[in-house]
Parts: sequence; structure tokens; C-alpha cells
Amino acid sequence: MGIADSPERKDPSQEHERVGREQPSSGGLETAVAARNSLPVLGPSRASHDGFDETLLVSPEHVLSTLESDGSRRWMYPLLSTGRFWKRRRIIAYLLAIVFITLPHLSIGGKPPILLDVAAREFTILGTTFLATDTLLLALGMLLIFLSVVLATAIAGRVWCGWACPQTVYMEFLFRPIDRLFEGTSGKGGKPKKPLVGVRKVARWAVYLVVCMLLAHTFLSYFVGVEALARWIRTPPWQHPTAFLVMTVTTGLMLFHFLFFREQLCLIACPYGRFQSAMLDHRSIIVAYDHHRGEPRKKGRRPAADDRGEAATAGDCIDCNRCVAVCPTGIDIRNGLQLECVNCTQCIDACDDVMDRVGLPRGLIRFDSQDGIDGKSGGLLRARTVVYPLILLIVGGLFYSVLGTKYSFDARLVRAPGNPFSRIQGGQVRNSLRLRLVNRSGQEQEYRVIATQPAGVALQVIEPEKLKLADRESVMVPLVVDFPSRVTSRTGHADATVQILDELGNTRELTYRLLGPAN
Ligand code: SF4
Ligand code: SF4
Repeated sequence: MGIADSPERKDPSQEHERVGREQPSSGGLETAVAARNSLPVLGPSRASHDGFDETLLVSPEHVLSTLESDGSRRWMYPLLSTGRFWKRRRIIAYLLAIVFITLPHLSIGGKPPILLDVAAREFTILGTTFLATDTLLLALGMLLIFLSVVLATAIAGRVWCGWACPQTVYMEFLFRPIDRLFEGTSGKGGKPKKPLVGVRKVARWAVYLVVCMLLAHTFLSYFVGVEALARWIRTPPWQHPTAFLVMTVTTGLMLFHFLFFREQLCLIACPYGRFQSAMLDHRSIIVAYDHHRGEPRKKGRRPAADDRGEAATAGDCIDCNRCVAVCPTGIDIRNGLQLECVNCTQCIDACDDVMDRVGLPRGLIRFDSQDGIDGKSGGLLRARTVVYPLILLIVGGLFYSVLGTKYSFDARLVRAPGNPFSRIQGGQVRNSLRLRLVNRSGQEQEYRVIATQPAGVALQVIEPEKLKLADRESVMVPLVVDFPSRVTSRTGHADATVQILDELGNTRELTYRLLGPAN
């Protein structure tokens, strides 16, 4: 039994019958809004605590597809439609799961491809390590990700949600199959014939716990690396209480999410669903119902379009409700584009299957734009699909040019506080500076600092032992620069150059301004 067959559940097609027929569907967002607005009606009676009868006032608006009219949760038991899109999604989902599990075990230059070491404030992505001080790079990287999502949504709608989001991937291709296994609905889905109780319920919880623990361990390995994780697993919890607590909380959150919260994440918590209306336009590709072809819907088999007489008025939708019964978020795509639609394509597969059975062409529900459904010429090219890639190119170029300035070490010269210069013996002038060094090389390094220009400048490192740095270490090293007083110009300035070398042969040249007497 599917959600549409659930006895407690109001049939969404009846809801459409009530409002949708009076306002012929345009298939757009406007229709969905119109279909949701109706006058308040009185619901069924129920006894209140003090014994009086209380009549429920049904909400004037459709609030959430997963809420009953009395505010209780409507649990989703979607039917399964194993059509062509489902098969493609399953391949992608398993590939993504394999990538997620294996990535922390791979190595690029001695580090995993992705290591988000929050404690050390280092973020390694595909062999490049960013420090917390790389604010510009991190900001540009985040902007690149954000713009890519905006562009992908403008072109292909919520393609991320339906095909790659971990919530969809694990919910639809890992946890729902586990549910169906224990509920005896494998291969078809829908509401179990008997409620899940006793040993089967406990066994399902146990399987969930094991799977969530495995996922939580893999997830945390992206933050601490597999070596630390393996060490913690082999040692008792009291030797690493913080790590154990983090692991327990992560497992608990995953368990809560996949057991109880489920599709609510997409409906009420995920900001992306809320933003999508700003990112989509009438030419974005979405999962859409062809209301021109489907309406007016009418139950029962009908002849193919070519054989129908002129008097035939029924559209191709046979009102079987199958597209609603398979929807994991419980909506009716025939009401138009809705916030709850995660582009999972189950309604496409279900409707194609129905069309095959009744001998009508596939594609009553399909990937198309709202303009495409209305028969308007469209195409990919429009303002946002030109402007977004241009901005992406600019930000990407900026990111790579800033990345190109990253060295195996950072070095910066700053003037020490106090007098700009002082006179010392032999007619010499002294400037006090400070060298800021950050070792990014991935190994211990000893640095050398040499004054190269102008002639006659002598550089002395006050604490030379500080020039030996462990990987990722940063120090501030005091320096003094002595030079003959004739070096500075009439304005009391002279440009000087310092060279810094590491043991790998990397060199950086820094220029700075010597200050001295005006000559
Ligand atoms: S599955 Fe297709 S034919 Fe059946 S109700 Fe949905 S749109 Fe109509
Ligand atoms: S309307 Fe269709 S594509 Fe959207 S969530 Fe429901 S089944 Fe998936």
C-alpha cells in the first residue's frame, strides 16, 4: 500500500479536485499557490481533555505535505518505481558512496585528498593546504562553490538535490532499502501491510545503528585523518574522551536524522530549497508535468491521441495518482513546481510506466522548463546563463592568480616599533625590522636571510635559532640592518632587498625601505 492508499491520509488528488478544477492548472508556481489557498473548512470532531467536543479548524492553506490537518506527522511510505532515471540515479549514488568511503584512505603528496583539520586550522584540498590565514583564498573558494551551485540551479534546477545530495543518496539508496527489507516491501515500497514491531523493529534499529556508526566514522575521518581514527578505534574511549564524545554525538545525530527527521531536512531545514525560487527562471530545467497534454485528467484507459475523435475531451493523465504515491516528499507534481520537489525523478519513472501500460507516449511528466511545457522556444542562452559563467570565470581567475602567489613558505618584513633608525659606531645607521615566517612546505625547514641590495648593507638575525621551523610553524624573527649613512638619499630613504632561502632551494625576495639621515 502506498502513501496514496493510506487510510489516514487525505488523497491529494481529491484536494486537487476541490480547488484545482475550479482554477484550471497552468502548471506553474502560480497554480501551486492557487491550489494551496482555499477557505478554511471545519475538520472532524474530537474529544477535548475536559470532555467537550472540539471541532478542528482545518488550516486554510496547505502547510506541509508531510503534515496531517491536525498537525501530526504524516509518515512517508513512497512506492518504488524502478524506471530508467532511478537506475541511473542508483549508479551515481553508489559511485558517490564509494568515493565518500575511499577518499580518506587515498593520498596526494602524503595527505588525503580532503582533510579539514579544524583543530590545526588547516584545510587540505587535492594536495593544496590552505591555512586559516588564507582568508582571501578561502573566501574566493567559497564564492566559487556558491556560484557553481547558482549556475547549476539556473540551468538544471535542483539537480544537486535529486542526484548527489548525501541526504537523498543515503536515504533513497541505503536506508529506504533497509526499511523495505524489514517491512517486507522490497522492490516495491509503500506502506507495510503489518506494523513493524518486536524483533524486526529492534533488528532494523540495530542495522541503522551500525550503518550510522560506519558513516559517522567515515565522516569524521575527513576532519582527523584515517590514522588518528584507527588509533582511537583501537584504544579505549577514556584515552580519547573528546573524540569519543564527538563520534557518539555524530552517530546519534545521523541516527536521529535517518530514523525520524528524514525528508523534513529538505522541507523545513535546508536553505537551498528556499533559495531555489530566486535561482530558477521559466527556462530552467525542472521535473515538470505537462498540463497541456494531461488536463483535463480523467480515470480510465483511452485511445491514442491520433485515434481520438474531436469530441474527446480527456487529457492523457488517467488520474491514477501513481506520481503522488512514489513521491518521497508527498507532493503532487501536477500542482506545478513546488518547494518540496527535490528532483528525484520518481514521478517521471512512475508516469512513464503508466503511459507504457495505457499505450500513450512517455513524457507526461518529464525534465523540461516551464517555457518548454508551454511550447515556447527557449534554449540555454539567457542573461543569467551568460552572466553567472562570466562571474565564475572572473572569480576562478582571481582564485588561481592568488593561489599562484603561494610559496612553500610565507615571508613578510615589518618595521619594529620605536625609532625609525639609530646611529651606531663608525658612522653606520641601524634599522630594526621583524621578519614574519610561515613554513608551508610540509616538513621541517631551516631558513637563511641575506641582504642583497644596496651594497654595504649588513643584515643580522637577532635570534637565528628561530629560523628553524617545524611544518606549519610560524615565527616573528627580529632583524637589524646596518648600513653606511651615505646610502640614504636626500629624502632619507633607500630601497633595499632581502633574500630568504629554504633548504628545498625555494627563494623569496622582499623589498623594504631603509630609513636614515637625509643626505
Ligand atoms: S502518474 Fe501520470 S497518469 Fe498517473 S496521475 Fe500521475 S501524471 Fe497522471
Ligand atoms: S515531485 Fe517528483 S521529482 Fe519532485 S520530489 Fe516528488 S517524485 Fe521527486
